Amino acid sequence: MNYDAENLTDFAQEVVDRGDLPLLGRDPHRTYHLGIMGGTFDPIHNGHLVAAEQAFDDLDLDLVVFMPAGRPAFKQDKQVSSGEDRYAMTLLATSDNPHFLASRFEIDRGGITYTADTLQLLRKLYPDNVKFYFITGADAVAEIMAWKNAEKVASLATLVAATRPGYDLEHARKTLKKSSVSFDVRYLTVPALAISSSYLRDRVSVGQSLRYLTPDTVTGYIHKHKLYGVHSSRYGSLREE
Ligand code: ATP
Ligand code: MG
Repeated sequence: MNYDAENLTDFAQEVVDRGDLPLLGRDPHRTYHLGIMGGTFDPIHNGHLVAAEQAFDDLDLDLVVFMPAGRPAFKQDKQVSSGEDRYAMTLLATSDNPHFLASRFEIDRGGITYTADTLQLLRKLYPDNVKFYFITGADAVAEIMAWKNAEKVASLATLVAATRPGYDLEHARKTLKKSSVSFDVRYLTVPALAISSSYLRDRVSVGQSLRYLTPDTVTGYIHKHKLYGVHSSRYGSLREE
């Protein structure tokens, strides 16, 4: 399915009906706050989950939607797992949290994924009393000026800049300040988790455990589907098997 502006009205109802995006904005007297956590999620890990949960609490969000990127603009030169696998892992990791939702919105859209396009489509889908909060880690914020249509992103969403160990949020702050685009930014202190998807992939490839780094359901999926050069198809099997 192609989620472009032309067939938007047709697919809008369908997307909401099948629960891929939340139904928000019904009460015109109220403002709704929708968090959007974008990423490659290859695989999703506790760093993503804790950042989203912190944003939910600190910014009084109604819901956080996790959107695995289709073909991430920044990872064109890298090997990335299929959208289906990344979506499935995101779904497993978020399913026990009532205010998290995993969405196929970006993986079902053809071509390279640009945040500006996603936000523009969402803007057309939701009434004006639904505000968007795009959640990113300090590393992604620092690169934001390289994004396609940064000014479009700035006009459509509040940027939530989360601390991330190993990345300097102060540098991100300065970059944004110097920029000609004026962003509405909220800075968010997240309990430090110095982990990344790359770190998890490396651990899997040498047979190390992912316990406490990502939900066990995600680890189970990785083993069952033999992602990242996993050695055993059975999660929890003995080292020598
Ligand atoms: P990779 O190592 O493959 O780049 P990653 O861990 O950086 O993976 P992404 O999918 O690239 O994960 O990140 C999605 C978003 O989550 C980005 O905005 C990133 O800054 C943020 N993020 C990732 N890990 C953390 C973490 N440990 N703490 C806070 N934010 C994080
Ligand atoms: Mg990254």
